[in-house]
Amino acid sequence: MFIGDPSKYKFMYCSRCGKEVVFDVDHYASGCQKCGGHLTPTAESVAVTGKPPSPYSKMAALVLVDLIGIMAGILWVTRRRLAGPDEASST
Ligand SMILES: [Zn+2]
Repeated sequence: MFIGDPSKYKFMYCSRCGKEVVFDVDHYASGCQKCGGHLTPTAESVAVTGKPPSPYSKMAALVLVDLIGIMAGILWVTRRRLAGPDEASST
């Protein structure tokens, strides 16, 4: 199985059982030693990065940023309404 430049990979983890080991070309070819599952090479340890990289995680982060922006906008509008000239003149 061709995986490109193997020198950029430092770790690899099993997509079936989640076992992570130091990257080794021979071990990668033979698969997971524990369950025989397919190994995914990574440049960083999944123990460091938290979880395997997913194309959806980046999208979820963008959605989260959007939601925070919308919430900040709502907060700004409501606070502006509360501190409006009508409220100020009644006191
Ligand atoms: Zn495994």
